[in-house]
Amino acid sequence: MTVPPISTSDPQVSSEPRRTTKETHPHLPPGLILDENGKVCKVCNTWQDFAKINKKQQTQSSDGTSSQGKTALKGMSMAGFANLLNNSQASSSNNPTLAPVEVDRSNCPPDTASLGRSTWTFLHTTASYYPSNPTEIHQSKITNLLESLSIFYPCSWCAKDFQKDIRQNPPEVKNREDFMRWLCERHNTVNKKLNKPLFECSIKNLDRRWKDGPEDGSCD
Ligand SMILES: Cc1cc2nc3c(=O)[nH]c(=O)nc-3n(C[C@H](O)[C@H](O)[C@H](O)COP(=O)(O)OP(=O)(O)OC[C@H]3O[C@@H](n4cnc5c(N)ncnc54)[C@H](O)[C@@H]3O)c2cc1C
Repeated sequence: MTVPPISTSDPQVSSEPRRTTKETHPHLPPGLILDENGKVCKVCNTWQDFAKINKKQQTQSSDGTSSQGKTALKGMSMAGFANLLNNSQASSSNNPTLAPVEVDRSNCPPDTASLGRSTWTFLHTTASYYPSNPTEIHQSKITNLLESLSIFYPCSWCAKDFQKDIRQNPPEVKNREDFMRWLCERHNTVNKKLNKPLFECSIKNLDRRWKDGPEDGSCD
């Protein structure tokens, strides 16, 4: 079975280094990751990234932001804050988008963390239920899915790194156990990059987490 290599002309592949507001928008709060069009990218940042910047804005007393503006920033949704940054209107206290909003985030668009958790849940669960003796078609389809994910994953910087990783470590999909271990290692590559703890990639540990649940029955 042969799967064509990922083309480097795919739209999400870019040789551009990741850019943040620090380099590109010196008049805006630094540290937020931008998309490839230079806009603050919701699925490349977390709610916490926005909250940290909100907090900084509130503690800056001499930056010219009015108390009305500060109060508004405190309660602002991530979408509102992204719009604010994208419109370069950080000092405007008259902007209607500054109205305080208490957000129940359960029905909000995903940030990079919730998108990541959902995607890993889908991938590891799919690997857990992958056949022990997959057909050629199974192998080809799952490889296509992984390669497509590496192109269309909405956090484009994450997608770019994932593409590079699976180019260096092509999907191992000859059976369920190989696939589970391969995926665990790919997830650990991201964990390492983000300074998160590494997962122990034994089948027993993976089955416990993604298929059977713990022996004490606490997930039954
Ligand atoms: C393909 C892909 C690429 C990503 N790239 C980036 C990126 O470049 N930058 C970025 O900020 N975020 C990236 N993310 C998101 C990131 O990986 C996390 O999902 C996000 O930071 C939330 O992390 P979390 O701590 O909630 O747990 P997650 O990392 O989402 O993990 C969810 C659960 O999976 C289990 N787990 C952890 N590691 C493993 C493993 N190795 N194998 C099996 N199970 C495991 C744990 O029980 C954990 O609670 C990416 C996500 C995906 C799917």
